[in-house]
Amino acid sequence: MREGGWLNGYGAVVTGGGAGIGRAIVDRYVAEGARVTVLLRSQAQADALRDVHGDRVSPVLGDVRSAADNRAAVDDAVRRWGALDVFVGNAGVYDFFRRLDSFAPDELEAGFDELFAVNVKAYLLGAQASIAALRASSGSMIFTLSSSSFYAGGGGALYVTSKHAAVGLVRQLAYELAPEIRVNAVAPGGTRTDLAGIASAGLGETRLSDVAGFAEKVAKGVPLGFLSEPADHAGHYVLLASRRDSRFTTAAIVQSDGGMAVRGA
Ligand code: NAD
Repeated sequence: MREGGWLNGYGAVVTGGGAGIGRAIVDRYVAEGARVTVLLRSQAQADALRDVHGDRVSPVLGDVRSAADNRAAVDDAVRRWGALDVFVGNAGVYDFFRRLDSFAPDELEAGFDELFAVNVKAYLLGAQASIAALRASSGSMIFTLSSSSFYAGGGGALYVTSKHAAVGLVRQLAYELAPEIRVNAVAPGGTRTDLAGIASAGLGETRLSDVAGFAEKVAKGVPLGFLSEPADHAGHYVLLASRRDSRFTTAAIVQSDGGMAVRGA
C-alpha cells in the first residue's frame, strides 16, 4: 500500500473501524500515512486489521457507549503515535425503518435508549475524551452523520431523530471548541455495509445487507444512480482531517449521498 500522503505522521482514533465505512476510513488513513487506533468490539475484526496493516493500526477492544473505553482509545493513540490529530466518531446502529406506531411503549423506551446510546451519547463521550489531546495538537473531530441527518424516510423514527441530533452535536461542538479544535462531519447516503439493528426492537440479528431490494431502492432514489461502497466516502474524512487543506473549515457537513438534495419533483 502507498505510504506517505495527506495525513503523513497523523495519529487518529476511528470508532467502529472494524467494518463498513469505518474500516474504509482506517484503510484510507493508513494509505495517507496516518497511524490509527481503532475502537471496536470484535476480536475477529481486530485480527483482520492487524493482518492487513500490522503495527500501523492499534485495535482497542471496547464499547463506544463507555466513557472509559473512549478514554482508553484516546490514551492509546497519544501513547503510540505521539499525538492525537483526528478523532473520528463513526460507530452506529440502525432501526430498519421502524415507524413510531409500530413500537410497544416499553419497546420504544428500550429502543431509544439503545440506539441513542450508540448514535448520540457515544459521539459526545468520544468528543469529550479527545478534547485535551486535540487541543494539544490543534486537531479535529469528524463524525459520521447520514442522509438521515437531513431527510425523512431513510430510516425509522429513532434513527432519523438520532442522526438529526448529531447535526446539533457537530454545530455546538464546533462553536464550543473553536478556535483550537475543528469539528466537521460526513453524511453518507445508502452504502453497502452490514449495519446492524437494535436488539431491543428485535433487530439485533438484522443487517442492512439483508434488506431485499436496498441497492435498487437507493440507486433509483438518487441522481447519481448507484448504491455507494464504503470507500466512496473515505476521501472526505481525509480532506476534513488535513490541517493544510481544511484549516478554515469547521461545522461543515459533507454530503456524500448521490445528490439527494436535487432529486427533482
Ligand atoms: P457497520 O455495521 O459496517 O459499521 C458500524 C460499526 O460500528 C460495526 O463494526 C459495529 O460493530 C460498530 N459498533 C456498533 N455498536 C458499537 C458499540 N456499542 N461499540 C463499539 N462498536 C460498535 O455499518 P456502517 O454502515 O459502516 O455504519 C457506520 C456509520 O455510518 C454509522 O454511524 C451509520 O449510521 C452511518 N451510515 C451508514 C449508512 C449506510 O447506508 N450503511 C448510511 C449513512 C450513514
